[in-house]
Amino acid sequence: MVLDDLGSSLRGTLDKLRGKSRLSEEDIEEIVKEIQRSLLSADVDVSLVMELSDNIKERSLEEEPPAGTPARDFVLRIVYEELVDLIGESTELPLDEQTILLAGLQGSGKTTSAAKMAWWFSTKGLRPAVIQTDTFRPGAYDQAKEMCARAEVDFYGNPDNDDPVEIARKGLEETADADVHIVDTAGRHALEDDLIDEIEQIEGVVQPDTSLLVLDAAIGQGAKEQAQQFDESIGIEGVVITKLDGTAKGGGALTAVDQTDSSIAFLGTGEEVQDVERFEPDGFISRLLGMGDLGQLAERVERAMAETDIEEEDWDPEDMLQGQFTLNDMQKQMEAMNNMGPLDQVMDMIPGFGGGIKDQLPDDAMDVTQERMHSFSVIMDSMTDAEKEYPKAVGASQIERIARGSGTSEEQVRELLQQYKMMERTIKQFQGMGSDQEMQRMMK
Ligand code: GDP
Repeated sequence: MVLDDLGSSLRGTLDKLRGKSRLSEEDIEEIVKEIQRSLLSADVDVSLVMELSDNIKERSLEEEPPAGTPARDFVLRIVYEELVDLIGESTELPLDEQTILLAGLQGSGKTTSAAKMAWWFSTKGLRPAVIQTDTFRPGAYDQAKEMCARAEVDFYGNPDNDDPVEIARKGLEETADADVHIVDTAGRHALEDDLIDEIEQIEGVVQPDTSLLVLDAAIGQGAKEQAQQFDESIGIEGVVITKLDGTAKGGGALTAVDQTDSSIAFLGTGEEVQDVERFEPDGFISRLLGMGDLGQLAERVERAMAETDIEEEDWDPEDMLQGQFTLNDMQKQMEAMNNMGPLDQVMDMIPGFGGGIKDQLPDDAMDVTQERMHSFSVIMDSMTDAEKEYPKAVGASQIERIARGSGTSEEQVRELLQQYKMMERTIKQFQGMGSDQEMQRMMK
């Protein structure tokens, strides 16, 4: 998660203010230092850090907290507002006909983002098309074509033509039926004159409504120069930050947003077509500060449920709460959870989990959990329906057979049965609460 460190270190500092109703100058100094340290280590530009921290300091000292507001909440609100102000609204993209041009260096994630964005627009009921003009990177054509097929969106490219401007022109003609045109362009390892020339020519032909700069979240200070150059040549309205799943930084991308006076349009959080989020400043900063982001979580749950293909008639959580809990129930639950994306990202969205509980887990706890979920699923595929319906009857000889059949170890099979027992016990406890509606709702 971008600026991961800011959330946890800030929570630590703010927690020291618990119970205080007034802030001393030293308190504020300490908080501001903490914010500066986190932002600088996340590669945010120095002058930007200074501006932000000066604002927070000034406001915390000058503004009078409303009566009865704890000092901690008061500062948190100021930090939140200043961050919202810095990051700004998300890039305006109408849910309507439009053409979007993607720019960025090679490897920043343009091709992947083009397909992801097209998929995103398709979930909004629009008909998107991706036009691949990258004739420079071998494999770009196949990669884009394959990803667009997975996203089930229109695609145009021509591996036999080496003129990107011509491909762009032809692509717009060939995909005239689409509502949203996303034009992917070539990158280079560094900013070179021919790259800038090429993208300027493509821009001339495409006449995009919006040009987006695609940036790898791990980019550091180099982001500033890139952003400036692309902005001068084609004008950048927004930024797509990719690979947020792989870095705790992301400050370079924030610097680029500031530099181009633009905003963030999308966030990329994985290699799959669906690993994309429309940027929402409030939710993003809430997550950053460990306040949870329920809006995003609800969207993911909805998507995961749709993908898991859980039929109302054959799986009803209500039944599970009242009757038998079987391994089939557990498998369905796991599939749904897997479809929601990496567990740690999901936990970041749950208020109270982002900071508190998650921080107390060992670093690799999340990975292990996901790995285990995968191996459980493989094991369950080797079990008979009867065994899944009544796991308690699974004995040593069956364990041996299941391990062999699934290519796992007997120990792993036992672990699964153990996990099942634990979950069953938990469910029993919920059942015991019977009429407690709030609990039942939470369970669901
Ligand atoms: P391009 O050269 O700018 O078109 O970059 P690509 O779209 O080919 O992306 C470069 C590499 O980064 C590929 O291996 C992608 O799978 C990977 N990638 C792109 N976006 C993400 C992301 O959000 N998360 C992760 N983990 N990998 C990504």
